[in-house]
Amino acid sequence: MSINIAIDGPAGAGKSTIAKMVAKQLGYIYVDTGAMYRAMALYIMRQGVDPKDSERISKECKNADISITYQDGAQVVLLNGENVNGLIRTEEVGNMASATSVNPDVREKLVDLQRILASKENVVMDGRDIGTVVLPNANVKIYLTASSKVRAQRRFLELEAKGEKADIDTIEKDIIERDHRDMTREISPLKQAEDATLIDSSDMSIEEVVAAMIALVK
Ligand code: C5P
Repeated sequence: MSINIAIDGPAGAGKSTIAKMVAKQLGYIYVDTGAMYRAMALYIMRQGVDPKDSERISKECKNADISITYQDGAQVVLLNGENVNGLIRTEEVGNMASATSVNPDVREKLVDLQRILASKENVVMDGRDIGTVVLPNANVKIYLTASSKVRAQRRFLELEAKGEKADIDTIEKDIIERDHRDMTREISPLKQAEDATLIDSSDMSIEEVVAAMIALVK
């Protein structure tokens, strides 16, 4: 039986940074499910589909073959065979992913893929519905959050480091909007699983959060 660790939480809580480090320490595979929703969103954007046109999204998502491979230990997302890692980290794709991920056909397709991965390998998987829907029997479940102010600040520094211009108030507004959409959607809303441990990283360093998670796993 493979060991599954589920990490859920809102945008910018540090899930991917932390999950990657925890996976590395444990020798598990890191699965970033947000990247799958982003690749799907990119595909739908490229088809010129209106994010509100759920009928067309349901139809188009069937033509997007999304898979995951690993290069030098890092996850690579393939969209119909194309490595899209370099194209999915923009705010535009993130917002589109938040809009298209409410579609049940999009979710069904990606959840199936996530479950197959977790059944074969020891994984640290992060997302919004991993502990609640994708892997309800995960060995360890963590809900990682931080205040919207702290999350906006972190995102701002990230964009600044990449040389991108950003406005911190706009980022915080986007984060709050995205949280609201992710938490109030009908299917698989973002919420803490009953048996998940809450970690609020607002006043914690990355190392402290990683250590807290490793302690939980052990
Ligand atoms: O985590 P990330 O910001 O990359 O996720 C992008 C969007 O994909 C989220 O805002 C959310 O709407 C969606 N998502 C989801 N379920 C997941 C992971 C991501 O609905 N398991």
